[in-house]
Amino acid sequence: MINKIVLPYPVDALEPYYSKETLVLHYDILYSGYVDNTNKTEEKLSAARRENNFENIKCLEKDLSFYGSGVILHEMFFKNMGIPIPSNPNISLMEQINIDFGSYEKFKNQFTESSKVVEASGWNLLVWVPRFKKLEILQCEKHQNLTLWGCVPLLVLDMWEHSYYLQYKTKRIDYINAFWNIINWNEVNKRWDSIM
Ligand code: MN
Repeated sequence: MINKIVLPYPVDALEPYYSKETLVLHYDILYSGYVDNTNKTEEKLSAARRENNFENIKCLEKDLSFYGSGVILHEMFFKNMGIPIPSNPNISLMEQINIDFGSYEKFKNQFTESSKVVEASGWNLLVWVPRFKKLEILQCEKHQNLTLWGCVPLLVLDMWEHSYYLQYKTKRIDYINAFWNIINWNEVNKRWDSIM
């Protein structure tokens, strides 16, 4: 069960840049809906496990991505806004921005241009990619894409056809069952320990 965050500022604090009316609608109605529906989806998932009935698992996990990502991204959005007094990236973030974008101005230009072309319902994000050790700007269409933003993968199974078709052809389930015999839980444990 997740709880709504409390806005870190009064609802009229972002005026005139972000109106009270817009913020109230966004926070009270839309964001609250994401939180409620995430909780409902978690309950349904729990019931599915209890009853060992996974008939709707695809739909439930899609709902979890949609509602859950809605929660996470809106909370970041609300928190990364604040009363209009000047603030700046700290020294180390600014250093990284300079390395990866050339300058703050160049970062700002790219972020602005990128935001302009996000298709319909979507987000624009400044992200850190640990594997590349690099800041990147990414557009996200809709917001779910069957993931939960901020999640940390622990165990992954490649379900692209190239990963099993040569050996298992259409017998996907045989490939999945075989996988359980070759999981290296030591590696999974290591990932788990690194975030705990
Ligand atoms: Mn929104």
